[in-house]
Amino acid sequence: MSKIILTGDRPTGKLHLGHYVGSLRRRVELQNSGEYEKIFIMIADAQALTDNFDNPGKIRENIIEVALDYLSAGLDPEKTNIFIQSEINELTELSFYYMNLVTVSRLQRNPTVKSEIQLRNFETSIPVGFFCYPISQAADITAFKATVVPVGVDQLPMIEQTREIVNKFNSTYGEVLVEPQALIPENAVCCRLPGTDGKAKMSKSLGNCIYLSDTPEDVKKKVMSMYTDPNHLKVTDPGSIEGNTVFTYLDAFCKDEHFEKYCPDYKNLDEMKDHYQRGGLGDVKVKKLLINVLEEELAPIRARRAELEQNIPYVLEVLKKGTQAAHVEATKTLNEVRAAMKINYFDDQALIESWEKKFQG
Ligand code: ATP
Ligand code: MG
Repeated sequence: MSKIILTGDRPTGKLHLGHYVGSLRRRVELQNSGEYEKIFIMIADAQALTDNFDNPGKIRENIIEVALDYLSAGLDPEKTNIFIQSEINELTELSFYYMNLVTVSRLQRNPTVKSEIQLRNFETSIPVGFFCYPISQAADITAFKATVVPVGVDQLPMIEQTREIVNKFNSTYGEVLVEPQALIPENAVCCRLPGTDGKAKMSKSLGNCIYLSDTPEDVKKKVMSMYTDPNHLKVTDPGSIEGNTVFTYLDAFCKDEHFEKYCPDYKNLDEMKDHYQRGGLGDVKVKKLLINVLEEELAPIRARRAELEQNIPYVLEVLKKGTQAAHVEATKTLNEVRAAMKINYFDDQALIESWEKKFQG
């Protein structure tokens, strides 16, 4: 079976380091590995509207921001189709048919939906569209017959739900859809990068992000005020690295080479952690290392973004071409789905003939 990738992001803001380590960095690696026959990356505007229906201006503005983030992080339109979800109306139709295959109680049990309902204070009035977004996510994935979905761990329940829908569809109507696999980061801290405030997840909705497009000054300010160990008051105090966000970020980004370059007192992160835990190492020194490490990753992304920002017509052309390619694929799948569900009336010559026969004495 050919290897196909589908994944994406909601255009609710610019992309941040959580997106980068959780999914975007991996997508660029997979794209450049040459192992995938087709790659589709979706800007999920329709999904973003499910909890931002009253603020379409925000979604519209962030389409271009996400596209710029993608291209500056290294997604290459020669190899990857970047497209806009709402432009592919086949996805909406697939969602509608999949709704029959999922129960309300199954959706209610989805742990990601549960926690997102809480986060948005939707408990007493959940918009139906929001409640159903795991079904629309299944449509997005299956429309492209994706085999691999690179995502952060918060998305695992969505992939599970998709697999269930695929099985239910195939056993009810015949083998049409493909079961996808989630691909989560190998490095545990990258599966769910915490926010700069130490909260469990860096998230646009929580306002605790370092953005790929932040200026060096922004990055410096955010790192310098980052959550560490609240009991590590004096440099001589022993410090804890457990839940210490600066160390978590170093776990996500730091390589041994960085020490030689920026902090030659230590050979690697383990040595630095030991010193911190023994006492005698101040937060500022650790934070300065992190700033350098992050800058090494962010400076080239920022530079590419500055160039792309001067060529918006090119970015739009990329989106248009990607959307056309996505449309072709989704149409193929929808036609197969309709045929399997026996609702392809006008295309089915055998059906038409059988109807004719039925009424010919
Ligand atoms: P929103 O608050 O609008 O939901 P978000 O910051 O959670 O935004 P999404 O667009 O929902 O971002 O997520 C896009 C992708 O990035 C998903 O694959 C998700 O798993 C991944 N991701 C988001 N935040 C993190 C994070 N902090 N760590 C690792 N992966 C993340
Ligand atoms: Mg999210």
